[in-house]
Amino acid sequence: MAFWPSVVVATPAHSGVGALLTYRSELSLAPGTLVRVPLGAREVLGVVWECPTEPPEGLSEAQTRAVASVLEGLPPLNARWRQLVRFAAQYYQRSLGEVALAALPPQLRDLSTVQLARRLKKQQGARAGAASAPADAPGQHAPALSEEQREALQALEAATAPVLLFGATGSGKTEVYLQATEHALQSQPDAQALVMVPEINLTPQLEARFRERFEPLFGAGALVCLHSGMTPAQRLAGWLAAHTGQARIVLGTRMAVLASLPGLRLIVVDEEHDPSYKSQEGARYSARDLAVYRAKVESEALAAEATAAAPAPRCRVVLGSATPSLETWHAADQGRYLRLSMPARIGGGALPRLRVVDMNHQPKGALLAPPLVAAMAERIARGEQCMVLLNRRGYAPVLACHDCGWKSACPHCSAYRVFHKLDRTLRCHHCGFTERVPRACPECGNLDIAPVGRGTEQLEEQLAGLLADVQRPDGGPARVARMDADSTRLKGSLEVQLATMHSGEVDVLVGTQMIAKGHDFRRITLVAGINADSGLFASDYRAPERLFALLMQAGGRAGRDAAFVTRQGSESELWVQTWTPQHPLFDALRRHDFPAFAAQQLAERESAGMPPFGHQALLRADARTQQAAQAYLNAAAQAADGLPHRDDVTLYPAVPLTIQRVANVERAQLLVEAASRAALQRFLNAWQPVLLACRSLPEARGLVRFAVDVDPLAI
Ligand code: ADP
Ligand code: ZN
Ligand code: ZN
Repeated sequence: MAFWPSVVVATPAHSGVGALLTYRSELSLAPGTLVRVPLGAREVLGVVWECPTEPPEGLSEAQTRAVASVLEGLPPLNARWRQLVRFAAQYYQRSLGEVALAALPPQLRDLSTVQLARRLKKQQGARAGAASAPADAPGQHAPALSEEQREALQALEAATAPVLLFGATGSGKTEVYLQATEHALQSQPDAQALVMVPEINLTPQLEARFRERFEPLFGAGALVCLHSGMTPAQRLAGWLAAHTGQARIVLGTRMAVLASLPGLRLIVVDEEHDPSYKSQEGARYSARDLAVYRAKVESEALAAEATAAAPAPRCRVVLGSATPSLETWHAADQGRYLRLSMPARIGGGALPRLRVVDMNHQPKGALLAPPLVAAMAERIARGEQCMVLLNRRGYAPVLACHDCGWKSACPHCSAYRVFHKLDRTLRCHHCGFTERVPRACPECGNLDIAPVGRGTEQLEEQLAGLLADVQRPDGGPARVARMDADSTRLKGSLEVQLATMHSGEVDVLVGTQMIAKGHDFRRITLVAGINADSGLFASDYRAPERLFALLMQAGGRAGRDAAFVTRQGSESELWVQTWTPQHPLFDALRRHDFPAFAAQQLAERESAGMPPFGHQALLRADARTQQAAQAYLNAAAQAADGLPHRDDVTLYPAVPLTIQRVANVERAQLLVEAASRAALQRFLNAWQPVLLACRSLPEARGLVRFAVDVDPLAI
């Protein structure tokens, strides 16, 4: 008897969701089984999707190749995982093969069956070792929860809907995640939890907290990480541990949402508003939205298996933030999500007082307002720390010649190269093109070329100068440090920088938004946002939402240790330098009133039909010329005429992207809008074959690629 498994393999992005390849097999293969199959001249990794006993109509035995091998020893990927992958592929308009294979660790593709068997054996050895470790060794004791934390934890464990944990910065959300995780894992010996964070490297503290708490309880291999900074071997080991149930907790970034977790009972999405949960390449999925979907699928499966005697367990999902995304906030307003609030900070500390500095009334050209510098000096002298946020790295965004007008444009992008003074380079932050700073203007030879605008390097330099005479309580000079993508490029440097901040060696930390995220620094009492309103002038309708979140999160780094602030006789402050102090955003920020801000933004969005009230997708095109990119998009729009569901959507004309050329590729996009998510999906599904066909139109010559971005974060 022969079987005819249909197998999912990594296919090019647009080969369609239905593109399964049929093979032949002597054995019946369970759906989800990992196999190697011949594809052209190669042998590739595939996932069995179905395994019928009859060949598909019109397919003869002679035309069909046999499955080359089965990855023995690996349990099949379960039906819930396959449903998640199918949904993600369909919703984000990518091929099933692309999504399924991208969700597997890359090394799985390259290992032979023998090599894999060896890895599994090693893993099992490790498991045996871990199991023999005392399971109840004294661990870090969980602190008694505050009243608010206890109520939140209880409510979330009783919840049947996704939970929004709306907790102020420093309200102890992490402790709620920890205890919810512990309870979930203790409910069943094979239960697993998935905890997602925006950027794991930024918060080594969080990983340490999870390890300290759970390794004594569940063994040394109980927690694995999954993120793109790991080596292929580490990723494979982590994935295997989760897939085989050996790991009980997966702590990871957005990619972890697609990990195989057969015992999944809890998903935590920490800082759920963070844009890094939305993938910007390949399948442009939102890990937060997939987490909500995944929990639903898992819960439905658990309910189906339940008996009358034992009520069904659930898989819960918790989205946590002090500044939730407006999508999530709106879902809670509508009652689709359960909102749990924790307004108070642990220890009863106050949220920082807002000081808005009107830059129109400051000395011309000053990067830092004198009152702000004075306030910082006072705090340093008292032994408190400050943090200054400037969302632009490098020394200056442009280098210019005032004689002839030359500017440091990137030859490959429609952007300027940034001046980095420390290593004397001009660097393009879009394509990476780097050159040494020219001695003189390349156009006219003028020796006097000058930086225009400011970046973190310059801020660090200026602050060190302005604070040169300030003394710390120990008599030493004030110390300024900088933390951004440049200063943390070397492996381990971020940890070192965080440590100097935690130990109090550094008085002022200057940096990009990476300093505003998640850190639990205990001695900061002043946080300042330097070019706060640069974001407000962006054309993006999400700019106020993003700025509000950034400032509130940055402010959330101040005054986290209430006892310290009191002892100091100090008060925590958030300083904001702005040219538009009358903007309503600052009023809500002053009152720490996220609900008021969200209500005002949502009212605006509703009247404009913007998300979450309307639904959007972008069709993006990359081409050798801007004309070709736009021509392709406009042709695709025209070819949509007469398609089913065409009348349910609005198609806008193609426009160039804000930075229209990157690495010599011209970029354009076309916006699709619909009143409902379902209508948008129906249209996109109908449109997909048209998008493929339009690639070969004569006017699209020079098209490099196209991509659909569903629920884009920026338009
Ligand atoms: P959030 O994630 O909401 O910003 P954290 O979870 O980081 O807040 O908590 C802030 C600080 O309070 C941390 O230092 C944490 O260790 C401490 N903390 C949290 N919950 C408790 C508690 N119940 N008792 C004592 N300290 C707590
Ligand atoms: Zn010149
Ligand atoms: Zn460039």
